Amino acid sequence: MASVGDTTYVVKRGDSLTSIAKQNGISVSALAERNGLSRNHHVNTGQRLVIPGSHASAPSGGMYVVKRGDTLTDIAKAQGVSLPHLADANGLSTKHMVKVGERLKLPGSTASSASNETATPSGALPSSISSAIVNAPVTTGRWKYIVIHHSGTSEGTVKGMDNYHRQVRHMENGLAYHFVVGNGNGMGNGEVAVGNRWKRQLDGGHLASLAQNKVAIGICLVGNYDRTPPTSAQLKSLNALVRSLMTRCNISASNVKTHQQINVIGTKCPGSKFPTKTFLAGLKS
Ligand SMILES: [Zn+2]
Repeated sequence: MASVGDTTYVVKRGDSLTSIAKQNGISVSALAERNGLSRNHHVNTGQRLVIPGSHASAPSGGMYVVKRGDTLTDIAKAQGVSLPHLADANGLSTKHMVKVGERLKLPGSTASSASNETATPSGALPSSISSAIVNAPVTTGRWKYIVIHHSGTSEGTVKGMDNYHRQVRHMENGLAYHFVVGNGNGMGNGEVAVGNRWKRQLDGGHLASLAQNKVAIGICLVGNYDRTPPTSAQLKSLNALVRSLMTRCNISASNVKTHQQINVIGTKCPGSKFPTKTFLAGLKS
């Protein structure tokens, strides 16, 4: 089957099928198959190979028409997007039963460059954030929980919170959280900031006990959710951030908690207007 993104590659001295596949971000078998070669084929300098369009350049903002037997889960899988991401883009619940002929919007697999917003409306993380998550020197088994907080303030920036934690709370490592998600006041709406405690893999300072801070990644959403709920851009970014951390640190959805769920008596954080049930249930699909 011909695919749209095919390109031609001219073999250079020292190349092998493996090195060419690697350079182009595709598998050796995909490359061999597309060119009717065996995986062990020795390529010759000057030989022309077809590089199949890679899945990395997944559709950004295309449409999909539902076929017989499709489910939302199948479509998400086939299109390389997460189920909540696909459901979100179409204003559907993840349990929605699709009908033959229904048209679905396909969210881009990465932040759309056509968008001028700071936030990523599709809920995907900007690549700088994804790589900060992937590249941090995480020790296997180090993190057991992800804990969600609100700032309790209507606006906030990483710098402001960092100063507060250093000067008022006397924390030598500053910003007590590993990540902060902005609300459009101070930081971009849905903008994710990576704190030093994540980059340097330091204990958090966001929970009451030292033991908890050793094993819990802290995420703070800017806002006072006793008064107003989080913005939808914040929830989308939070969803993408939490999912990415769950994968990176091998944390299950049941170990993603709100601050209140950890310190039941001590706090109401992240506020009564944070959609705890829906948000946490969404992580399990
Ligand atoms: Zn809190």
